[in-house]
Amino acid sequence: MRVTINPTTCIASGNCGRTAPRVFANRTEDDGFVSLIDENPPEAEWASTREAENLCPSATISIEEDDADEVSGSA
Ligand code: SF4
Repeated sequence: MRVTINPTTCIASGNCGRTAPRVFANRTEDDGFVSLIDENPPEAEWASTREAENLCPSATISIEEDDADEVSGSA
């Protein structure tokens, strides 16, 4: 899994940092724009990372899945 963000579209909702706090951070309480902590999260973080992508209201988060990720992720 490889995660990318587009900071120009982030609207600072803070969903991603709450959903996957080991992968995303929202910089401060006053400035909630996304920071990417881990662009290659370990398997234990894949489910929450996918959830964060789904919950992002501005489609700022993109995930590229390797074939091996998809096999493991479909379980
Ligand atoms: S969920 Fe999306 S819009 Fe909200 S802070 Fe994260 S990247 Fe930005």
